Amino acid sequence: MRLCATCVLPENFPNIKFDEDGNCNYCNSFKGEEKLREDKAAYFEKFKELIKEVRDKGDYDCTLSYSGGKDSSYTLYVLREVFNLKVLVLTFDNGFVSEQTWKNIAALTENLQADSMVFKPNFSILKKIFRYAVNQPMYSPKTLERASTICTSCIGLVKFIFLKIAIEKRIPMMAWGWSPGQAPIRSSIMKINPALFKVTQDAIKKPMGKIVGEAINPYFLSDAQFADEAVFPYNISPLAFMDYDENKILEKLHQLGWRSPKDVDTNSTNCLLNSFANQIHIDRYNFHPYAFEIAEMVRTGVMSRKEGLEKISEPGNDATIKFARERLEI
Ligand SMILES: [Zn+2]
Repeated sequence: MRLCATCVLPENFPNIKFDEDGNCNYCNSFKGEEKLREDKAAYFEKFKELIKEVRDKGDYDCTLSYSGGKDSSYTLYVLREVFNLKVLVLTFDNGFVSEQTWKNIAALTENLQADSMVFKPNFSILKKIFRYAVNQPMYSPKTLERASTICTSCIGLVKFIFLKIAIEKRIPMMAWGWSPGQAPIRSSIMKINPALFKVTQDAIKKPMGKIVGEAINPYFLSDAQFADEAVFPYNISPLAFMDYDENKILEKLHQLGWRSPKDVDTNSTNCLLNSFANQIHIDRYNFHPYAFEIAEMVRTGVMSRKEGLEKISEPGNDATIKFARERLEI
């Protein structure tokens, strides 16, 4: 398989084009590390301004969507220790959270002194959605460039369940632990636009509704909630504009009591469904669902091309794939 000479995207990636030097169109549109540094500094200042505006207006300054993985764990550290924000930590339990991850969530929320809530949807509903996602596409083809259909399902639920909580509690910011490959800097601080989010909600809720019916309603916003524009928070992705060095991140997390789960693959430090979801995606589309994100990290100098290639060619963890199959009865 031919790969981009600079990043790790393969020739069968949707809409990819290579120039005569073998570089892809995504690498050719990257504006360079200098520009990225300027943008990061500008967004760091923008975030400080936003904090001045919203701090201490309510019970919490922001939510954090917290998987217990290394990126969102580090984001919790940044929010608490760098910016001193009052954080409500929200964890989505998809039924596949590893034992070590629960220990990590307890350690980090205690050591960084944050309140924490877990939302676990009725597993029979999740199971129906995951089983469906294994066998057929559910969402727009564009979503397949960024994640497996199973991952897109989980993230879709997380986005709207937690937005609903933020709106109901009048919390002005929602923080996310997206890695620099997942969150482009230009969308790292963004007030949520209800009209746009209604379109996004429909794109996820409708396919799920076809599978589980009205049982899906509690996880999404009502029309009345969409009508009240003033209560919509900002989405924030701090790791997009902070320095990101995986070794330093792991060192800091270790000091805070976080330990790497041994039972997950290299791309996910928290989810026991991830290996299976990746395998299904690779079998069907012949590229790794993390390829786009890892390509961006290679392009922007966050990781070397060699490390990136290792991450996308690592075989899935057989034991967790077996566990996922058994739990989903597939
Ligand atoms: Zn490239």
